[in-house]
Amino acid sequence: MALIITSPLRGWAAQLDSVPDPVFAQRMMGDGVAIQPLGDTVCAPFDGEVVTLHESGHAVSLRSAEGAEVLIHIGLDTVALKGRGFTPLVAAGTMVARGDPLIRFDMDAVALGATSLITPVIVTNAEAFTITRRTTGRAVGAHEELMALAPAKAEVRRWSDDGTVIEERVKLILPHGLHARPAARLGECARGFEAEIHILHGDKRGDARSTVALLALGTRLGDELVVQARGSDAEAALAAIVALLGSDMGEGAPAAAPAAVVPAAPALGAGQIGGVIASPGLAMGPAARLRQTAIAVEREGKGSDAERTALNAARSEVRSRIGARAESEGGSIAAVMRAHLALIDDPELIAGAEARIVMGSSAGFAWRGAIHDQIATLKATGNAHLIERTDDLVDIERQVLAVLTGAPAEAAAVPAGAILVADDLLPSQLVTIAASKPAGICLVRGGPTSHVAILCAGMGLPALVAMGDALDTIGDGTTLLLDAEAGHVTPNPSLADADTFAVRLARREARRRAARASADDDCHTADGVRIELFANLGSVEDARAAAAQGAEGSGLVRSEFLFLDRDQAPSEDEQHAAYQGIADALSGKPVIVRLLDVGGDKPAAYIPFDAEENPALGLRGIRVGLAHRDLLESQIRAILRVQPVGQCRIMLPMVASVAEVRAVREVVDRLRGELGIETPVEVGVMVETPAAAITADLLAIEADFLSIGTNDLTQYVLAMDRGNPAVASGVDAMHPAVLRMIAETCARATTKGRWVGVCGGLASDPAAVPILVGLGATELSSVPGFVAEAKAIVRGLTLADARAHAERALQCGSAAEVRALARAFEEKTR
Ligand code: PEP
Ligand code: MG
Repeated sequence: MALIITSPLRGWAAQLDSVPDPVFAQRMMGDGVAIQPLGDTVCAPFDGEVVTLHESGHAVSLRSAEGAEVLIHIGLDTVALKGRGFTPLVAAGTMVARGDPLIRFDMDAVALGATSLITPVIVTNAEAFTITRRTTGRAVGAHEELMALAPAKAEVRRWSDDGTVIEERVKLILPHGLHARPAARLGECARGFEAEIHILHGDKRGDARSTVALLALGTRLGDELVVQARGSDAEAALAAIVALLGSDMGEGAPAAAPAAVVPAAPALGAGQIGGVIASPGLAMGPAARLRQTAIAVEREGKGSDAERTALNAARSEVRSRIGARAESEGGSIAAVMRAHLALIDDPELIAGAEARIVMGSSAGFAWRGAIHDQIATLKATGNAHLIERTDDLVDIERQVLAVLTGAPAEAAAVPAGAILVADDLLPSQLVTIAASKPAGICLVRGGPTSHVAILCAGMGLPALVAMGDALDTIGDGTTLLLDAEAGHVTPNPSLADADTFAVRLARREARRRAARASADDDCHTADGVRIELFANLGSVEDARAAAAQGAEGSGLVRSEFLFLDRDQAPSEDEQHAAYQGIADALSGKPVIVRLLDVGGDKPAAYIPFDAEENPALGLRGIRVGLAHRDLLESQIRAILRVQPVGQCRIMLPMVASVAEVRAVREVVDRLRGELGIETPVEVGVMVETPAAAITADLLAIEADFLSIGTNDLTQYVLAMDRGNPAVASGVDAMHPAVLRMIAETCARATTKGRWVGVCGGLASDPAAVPILVGLGATELSSVPGFVAEAKAIVRGLTLADARAHAERALQCGSAAEVRALARAFEEKTR
């Protein structure tokens, strides 16, 4: 007889495939149905026993009298809420009847903290039961039939008494213990072996193939578990399970976990709190804490027409506010505002909200749900760079909800000169706060490549991110010394420390003022060696800012700014107009346009990318252009048409071999012929891979110049993802391994008479400028705001001193040692 599973919740029943989390969508935990909740109480789907109720109240599993095991997981990533918003109404071990309430949850609070509210209902012992009927694609009331199960024919494994048992101990580093997602991964791994595998926690034992049994172990961070295996492939099974169980299983290991792959951070003094430098600089001032209040929204709507009208009106108000800001601001603020404009009209978001409004949700609730689904999709990619983009979605969510509810969307101003301390910050909040002139920013979370980081760097506002919970101990008004050159903050400094810091700060400010005064002079070292100071640009607004700072050209136009956040590639004419605008803003000075650098951390919706296991090592950079010749050719034609011919040079991103340069050169020459252009146009390569660095002499035969992209070069040399906060403190281009690659590139390219520049982030780091010059770079391309200062640093150097300094840096054992050396050099020379 079929076992009927009734819906534990009122909501929209959907296929599991629609859950933006591979653990559920790929059925690692078992088969089932997902519910987009419209009710707030999870009820028992059959008569049976509550087997587990996670201590954070976000998941419950039950076993029916027939032995079917079902897990109900409220929302995604809800384990991280640590119980906030959930009220368990029963305990593990309770016998319940169908329809009995099990957990009540606060939909607004959970929706705010979770990546999605979608609630998978999973039959976890799929080997024992088959789903014969399921309800999807329509609304279900609580207690309506959701699935029908029949016993499966397959034999159920039992732990036998035969054979030798081998075992190993392992310490759990999962921040939330073995909750549903890691349990599913473990089960999937175990099912790949013949052996019986059990996991023991104290006196509890669970079959590694059973999610419910693993949840019932009730494990926590730091628990010691025993893995036992028996059978033909027991050794391999044990090794695989122990390796998986001892890892963070993609959950992000806690900072304190001994096995976390966090490289040694620079040594901190007593009381100092370390962080990742998002925008370099120094600041001193009282802490001003930003308190974020959640915006509450009504769940139920007042009719779909009224809610649709309200949402459209709110979106339109937010659109015009952002549009006005995009018009009035320049540079990176305008660029971020344009990205937000694209989001406010994103068809996926609008469709997601519409589906909820039709189901009876209010405009606010529908908008929030649609945004959170998109966030969950980004998070499911596992790509840290994309995950950082979720800030922009949260920003748009908040702005629309604020209009709908009348709540204040934007952060209150902070006192001028204060150091803003916050859990996290949204781009629009930063733009508002920046108007009240804070001295610096410290964030518990955030990433070094987020929009907030880019905006801070553009504004010259010192910022540290990913500082962790230690920052929570800082109260309003606490005096802080923010050192975003060394990467730490000192709360309540001694008078002596504060004095020393104030002197450093004053000297730095004086240097910057003097540098700005001589920004337009050209740039030679003190002993007469010409070093060109260029700027990196992402828009025509940047080009104007760079010209005002004395930039002698652009060493990197990130042409992606034209290609991202849109549905179609820009036409050749649109591109040509943009490149011509930049060339004109730089009044005939050289402009190096980098060919489209998408793929990896920068997907473009209209270029078909297959899902890649490892996008950073996949189809990205020039590989995309060579695979999509139409895009490559229209971009090259757009560049070649810029007047005067030759002002724009062409640069290839992510080069790994000589053949790529030859292939592009061939296209450039052919298109020049077609356009009747006789003047040669320079073609250069970016050195971003170890392959390019070590073959710089071979590339130099084919290319007119080389420019080192230290951001990517660092990630590939150190094998550390540049966008992954877990390794962010180790991703430092001052690592001697990266410096040696730069030295190698310069030495090899100059044997063939080619110049080498640096356009990665290292060229915008004051501590690195003397080293880069000493290693042989003759062109530096920095963020526009640093050009004048970089010129002043170069003017204060002799090549001989820079070379000796660089040689010492190459002999250092770590990035921290190089930075200490650079500080000593700065003290001596300035
Ligand atoms: C680099 O990798 O250093 C670089 C300049 O390119 P991007 O940061 O745009 O990848
Ligand atoms: Mg790069």
